[in-house]
Amino acid sequence: MLSERAGKIKSSPTLAIDAKAKSIKEAGVDIVNFGAGEPDFDTPDNIKEAAIKAIKDGFTKYTAVGGIDALKDAIIEKLKKDNNLDYKREEIIVSCGAKHSLYNIAQALFSPGDEVLIPSPYWVTYPEQVILNDAIPVFIKTYESDSFMVKPESIESHITQKTKALILNSPSNPTGLTYDRKNLEQIAEIVLKHNIYVISDEIYEKLIYDGLEHVSIASLDNSVKKKTIVVNGLSKSHAMTGWRIGFAAGPEEIIKAMTDIQSQSTSNPTSISQKAAIEALTGPQDFIKTMLDEFDRRRNFLVNELNSIPGVTCLTPGGAFYAFPNTSFFYGKKTDNYKISSSNDLSMYLLEKANVAMVHGAAFGDDSYMRLSYATSINEIKKGVERIKGALNRLS
Ligand SMILES: *Cc1c(COP(=O)(O)O)cnc(C)c1O
Repeated sequence: MLSERAGKIKSSPTLAIDAKAKSIKEAGVDIVNFGAGEPDFDTPDNIKEAAIKAIKDGFTKYTAVGGIDALKDAIIEKLKKDNNLDYKREEIIVSCGAKHSLYNIAQALFSPGDEVLIPSPYWVTYPEQVILNDAIPVFIKTYESDSFMVKPESIESHITQKTKALILNSPSNPTGLTYDRKNLEQIAEIVLKHNIYVISDEIYEKLIYDGLEHVSIASLDNSVKKKTIVVNGLSKSHAMTGWRIGFAAGPEEIIKAMTDIQSQSTSNPTSISQKAAIEALTGPQDFIKTMLDEFDRRRNFLVNELNSIPGVTCLTPGGAFYAFPNTSFFYGKKTDNYKISSSNDLSMYLLEKANVAMVHGAAFGDDSYMRLSYATSINEIKKGVERIKGALNRLS
């Protein structure tokens, strides 16, 4: 018999959509895929070369569990330069992706019954990691009319004796919301007043538009920094999802516990990827601008197109690479054999009848929306939007 824990975990709904899209594609159907959660760009050559060199040099053995010093130093340098944050090596851990760093945090911080605040819509992984560690996710609903920003007073009204931490994600997957300094100051005030931790997932830091500035909540002042664990990585910024390098920076005591946990679960992240990560952080950064300019072009195009569909409204995301349109107008409508009463119904209808894959908002905690990734070419976006328009038009 499986563990109680195994019985509580949900498989990833984003992967389920992807599997369905792939099986339709294998049957020879031309699918437009808005489901991707990773950049469609290749990892830059200088980074690949660094990995090839590491292999040729025989850098292929176990390393220090939490990452080699040279990589920690490159991360310290990055946090200083980009985020105005000062850390020592003992306050840094490198893990097998930011997701793994987040998991280590959950293991190091949460005890059974602890409550963890998660603004909703949220990244699908947060509540599952909380549940896997016997803690309780507490959702704080946010609204399109506030750009999905969590209000300080709603954070406060969800805090109890058991509240341990707040998970913040800016820029956000799925909404693209990007918090500014003033919002973060208000949130920090509540956090400090109630002495809870902030887990700040900043993985989309580099993918930010319209001249917005990324601010790390930890950088506001030293008292906030002491209660914050900053999580970041190279998957999104350097198109390195497959290399599995993420990191966390925070209070030494927490990082040490995370490192001990990592030492008994996965050990070090791949030695070769660590060398590649040093090159990613210290080598030329012009790749990011090229990728960002292209994402920006696609973002503007996709959001305009979505807003031109009668019944659809879509905010302009400030960061990441997802559009998050409100599609609730279509719930209650029908055509042929399809009756649409949820985001899941609509995504299945669009997949089967229009051959367009996207992720239903319910997966992220809000049924009124759909998530469309624009990590795909402008031509695909054009084709996809035409199909969506046609299919929505047939609903009545
Ligand atoms: C992609 C993603 C991550 C983690 O990516 P890794 O590949 O594990 O580094 C973390 N948070 C959010 C919100 C993401 O979208």
